[in-house]
Amino acid sequence: MTEPVTQSGFDYLIVGAGFAGSVLAERLASTLNARVLIVDKRPHIGGNAYDCYDDAGILIHPYGPHIFHTNSKDVFDYLSKFTRWRPYQHRVLASVDGQELPIPINLDTVNRLYGLNLTSFQVEEFFASVAEKVEQVRTSEDVVVSKVGRDLYNKFFRGYTRKQWGLDPSELDASVTARVPTRTNRDDRYFADTYQAMPLHGYTRMFENMLAHPNIKVMLGTDYREIMDFIPYRHMIYTGPVDAFFDYKYGKLPYRSLEFVHETHPVEQFQAVGTVNYPNDYAYTRISEFKHITGQTHQHTSVVYELPQAEGDPYYPVPRPENAELYKRYEAEAQALTGVTFVGRLATYRYYNMDQVVAQALTTFGKLRARHESAATE
Ligand code: FAD
Ligand code: UDP
Repeated sequence: MTEPVTQSGFDYLIVGAGFAGSVLAERLASTLNARVLIVDKRPHIGGNAYDCYDDAGILIHPYGPHIFHTNSKDVFDYLSKFTRWRPYQHRVLASVDGQELPIPINLDTVNRLYGLNLTSFQVEEFFASVAEKVEQVRTSEDVVVSKVGRDLYNKFFRGYTRKQWGLDPSELDASVTARVPTRTNRDDRYFADTYQAMPLHGYTRMFENMLAHPNIKVMLGTDYREIMDFIPYRHMIYTGPVDAFFDYKYGKLPYRSLEFVHETHPVEQFQAVGTVNYPNDYAYTRISEFKHITGQTHQHTSVVYELPQAEGDPYYPVPRPENAELYKRYEAEAQALTGVTFVGRLATYRYYNMDQVVAQALTTFGKLRARHESAATE
């Protein structure tokens, strides 16, 4: 095993114990024998993927439903070192015109919405007949109207997106609504990835296993700014919001926030599937019921409502051209700093899923290791 890089203090100060920070802590400690201090201002590890048991004894996700899915064997194999899995395929219904219909839009969505009996082949012709011609698909409106036309766009996407982002789909990059495909078959799974599963004993247990290495010290309930001047370290890995790191010197980068309203009901099941979306009614976008997602059996059930808001904890980068421009200025500053590495959804201002953050962290580790090895041979 390689010798630690420094003789005293820490080799790495990692800010944030979510996926980005925890993957890097684990890799650096277990393969380079580096001494790592990971600090989070929240009172728990796991970042937004943290899960815990509520007062009723039901496993919930305090920061909204987190469903693991990936096409990357590397990412799945890596996380499998720290957890066993429960196979789970997420299904979502959208409440539209008094019915609960499959989303992503598929053959059944169209048939049930319009009272038709089309085949897969016919629904393809239907989409072609209602699709609007768009010269260049740039926005989140373009993506949808160019595939399924104005009526389905208005019923399933326009209201939801305006609520979720506080912006019209025409003001958001195509990549946002492009996350949701359109299908001509009856596949009603929300995701189509090769690997779809939940950590068998929850995310927090998986994070505990990742951080269990003796070289990793975890400090919770602490903002890194409170300790960075007192604790010696060689290199910082920062996974918080990038604009906050630079004291908002170029202005605030918009991050969309949510209020989570959790409820427990004295019934076994609250709704038919893991998530029901409400594109056109109510202030909330969706209700998720955890027992569908975790597989837990319990006489009662817990759900979470998501209410979008501009202020509050930063959860989503907002993909649109002016924000990308502003981020570039912060990114240039970040790249110029040799003592700090920025990684994760908030620090690189990317609308990443969990698996993408893990992949980004593993790639970042590869670069840090190369640097470490070249330093060791000098
Ligand atoms: P985070 O998990 O945000 O971790 C960053 C950590 O840094 C936080 O814990 C924060 O407290 C800490 N921090 C920030 N500033 C400081 C500071 N100054 N000092 C100390 N600590 C600090 N992805 C999926 O793949 N599937 C899903 O179903 C899914 N659902 C989601 C639902 C919601 C509502 C949200 C918001 C996200 C969802 N995601 C989902 C995305 C997923 O949450 C992220 O991809 C992932 O958690 C990002 O990990 P991260 O480490 O980059 O950031
Ligand atoms: N979306 C929508 N209607 C839906 C589901 C999604 O308009 O029923 C749009 C909306 O803009 C949303 C985006 O597609 O923010 C991405 O949806 P996803 O479910 O991937 O969002 P996340 O789980 O990341 O919040």
